[in-house]
Parts: sequence; C-alpha cells; structure tokens
Amino acid sequence: MLGETAAPVQQTLKAAIGCRGVGLHSGRRVAMSLLPAAAGTGIVFRRTDLSVEIRANWINAVESARCTTLSDGEGTSVGTVEHLMAALAGAEIDNAVVEIDGPEVPIMDGSAAPFVFLIECAGVVEQDAPRRAIEVLKLVSVVADGGTAVLSPDHGFSMSFEIDFESSLIRRQDMSVVVDPGIFKSELSRARTFGLLDEVVRLQEAGLARGGSLDNVIVVSGDRVLNSGGLRYKDEFVRHKMLDAIGDLYLAGAPIIGHFRGVRSGHAHTRRLLAALFADPEAWSYTTPAPAFRPLALDHQDARALRP
Ligand SMILES: [Zn+2]
Repeated sequence: MLGETAAPVQQTLKAAIGCRGVGLHSGRRVAMSLLPAAAGTGIVFRRTDLSVEIRANWINAVESARCTTLSDGEGTSVGTVEHLMAALAGAEIDNAVVEIDGPEVPIMDGSAAPFVFLIECAGVVEQDAPRRAIEVLKLVSVVADGGTAVLSPDHGFSMSFEIDFESSLIRRQDMSVVVDPGIFKSELSRARTFGLLDEVVRLQEAGLARGGSLDNVIVVSGDRVLNSGGLRYKDEFVRHKMLDAIGDLYLAGAPIIGHFRGVRSGHAHTRRLLAALFADPEAWSYTTPAPAFRPLALDHQDARALRP
C-alpha cells in the first residue's frame, strides 16, 4: 500500500521537559520548561516568577536589533525567544507553553539544536484539530537600514537569505532552502549566533551580551574564528540568519506558506514584514495546508508482491 494522504493536524509535545542555562544579554541563570498545550493554544510564554503570560505573536514583539523580545506592554518581557521559536517551528509544534523563571530564554550553545534535542526527548504528539497555516497571497516587503525582507507566494515554506559582511571570513553568503523538519534539523538548527570581536567587546562594555562566551557565540576576528572548535558549517553565518528568520516568522502565530527572502535583514525587518503582511487583508489568508503524501511502511504481503 502506498500513497495514503492525511490532512496535517496540530501537534504538541508528548510530555513536559526542561533545561537550565544562562541568558545571552542578561547573563541571568534561568530554568525553562516546555509543556504540552491544548489544540488552538499556539505558543505561549509564561513567566513563572511573575505569573505573567505572553503570547508568542509579532504584536507582542518589541523592536530590537540584537534579539527578539516579547513584552506584555506592562513592563514584563521575555528576551531572545528566536532560537527556541525556530526549533518549535522547525519541529512543527503548533501548541506549547514555555515556562521560564527569568527575563530571557537561555542561550544554550547559541543555536537551536539544544531545543530540537529537548523537543525530540519530550516526543511529539498529534492533536485532534486540523493545522491552520498562513498563506501569502501577494508580495510584501520592507526596506530599511540597508536591508530588505520580502514575503511572496510559494507552494510551501521556502527561504533564501543573503548576507554581506566586511569581515574577510564571512563576506557574501547566499543560501536557499525549502524548509521542512529534516532540512531544518540537519542544515540550519546547529548554526550558532555570531559576532565580530570589536562588536562583542562594545556590547559587553555597554552591559549587553553579559552571558556571551565562546561557548555560545562564534566570535570572528579578522579572518579567524576565535572558538577552538572552528565552524560547524562553512557558511554557518548565513544559516544562523535563516534560523533567526524562521523563529521570527513563527511569531505570525501559525506556519507560513510562502517564500521569505532576506538581504542583510535582521529581527526588526522580519517584525515589520509581519506587520506589513497583516496590515493588508489581500496579502494573506488562513488555509489548511495540503495533505502530505505519506508512503506507508510495506507489510510482508505487499513486499513479497513487489519482489521481481
Ligand atoms: Zn540568532
């Protein structure tokens, strides 16, 4: 038997799972737990130290060049959500509650891989509700500060990204992918946050990146990487920018069906792009993703019948 189709349904975690780590900017040690949530919940952050919940939605994102911060508008926030959001998007988790006892998601190793590992350890379970996606119907774009971000119609979720740094090690990198859980995990999830040495020094002098170290940031000095293990991918820099964009785009509140193109863009571009998308009712609509083609495992009878 081959080729049964099934309409995608919402997914959550099979069990709760937690980790501890340090916030990149705050330097604070935090404990974080990912919990299963009912269909239709979406991703919700819960500050357990303050009993405040903040929905992971672009409406709650405050403009920031360095990381993506969600705020309740009354002084409570959760910072650096983008790598965790990317892992949840990449693993196709529709519903989860993220409990955290401090102001910033732990940076772990600077990538999304530790969060993918947590999700895999917890397990993923299907729920009794169809998945809802956001289909891009026409091109929207944001051009600002030397960067461009564009969303345009496509059959699935795809992405291309171009960066151009003066660093002789990074220079120009361009990459395109069709994003699915396998590609996300193998090609993007392990790419780490990076910074140029003088920029990292400046940030730390300004009281930022307090939790930053060679354990969680790739530090580039001239044409060298200061981290002893070197790079995980030759073009790890552009891959990390794609990871960031996937996390930021998941603040749409549902998976996107469309193509994202980023050229030297950052968190603020992606947030403004979502604002532009949702400001135009003709630019998007909710949709149920097309049923996935799922080849079923052959049973022995079928396998014998197929033998030449
Ligand atoms: Zn990042």
